[in-house]
Amino acid sequence: MMTRLFRVFAIAISSFLLFSINLPSALAAQTINWSYGGTENPTQWGHLSKDFALCELGKAQSPINISEAANSSPANINFDYKPSPLEVVNNGHTIQVNYAEGSKVTIEGNEYALLQFHFHTPSEHYINGQASPMEMHLVHRDQSGHLAVVAVMLSEGMSNSLVSQVWEHLPAYGEVSNVGNLLINAVDLLPSKRSYFSYDGSLTTPPCSEGVSWNIFTEPVKVSKEQIEKFAQIFRVDARPLQPLNNRTTQLHN
Ligand SMILES: [Zn+2]
Repeated sequence: MMTRLFRVFAIAISSFLLFSINLPSALAAQTINWSYGGTENPTQWGHLSKDFALCELGKAQSPINISEAANSSPANINFDYKPSPLEVVNNGHTIQVNYAEGSKVTIEGNEYALLQFHFHTPSEHYINGQASPMEMHLVHRDQSGHLAVVAVMLSEGMSNSLVSQVWEHLPAYGEVSNVGNLLINAVDLLPSKRSYFSYDGSLTTPPCSEGVSWNIFTEPVKVSKEQIEKFAQIFRVDARPLQPLNNRTTQLHN
């Protein structure tokens, strides 16, 4: 038990560090509690710590409602995902699957390594004013520390086999399920059509760091009603509300 808890702690710190490139003072933020409801809800995040100030003051925050993309250009995204032993973390905010090294995505010629993917309900982004039941975020980082998130809307339909495998190994709060003999491939959670919207935004969780490249597939992936409900039993809502677009533009790549 001790080793498992220690491991969760170590993972929490390392994921935190991943999100804190160029933010050395943000290290202290790892002990600050935040939530999706109650007194630490998203409208309060910016006041919980000075390291979370961007949550309140940032002008390029995520998520957003994506409507009429102003510009369009050809899709330029290529996935090179490899199988990874299944490692599932319940960090108290979401279910996160940590990914083995060696998988990458190339977006507009920039190469990013896949670190982890995790889930939100309902979706954080809206497309033309519409939310989806869930949204998955595949978090990537390039060699200079820039983050690129590939987002997939999850809508209700047939069950997804990769989601089934993850849900079968859901850890309790603060714990990790290591299923080293079960190889998964995140490519099984990508839609067949590779059109996507892109815009510049932020992490959707504290410390709300900006400079994140968002890439959101136009086509959803199906998951079953039971799969949505199973996640919602653990996290009824784990979605940050929509943020102002300000003077940003979105691009459609197809
Ligand atoms: Zn997310």
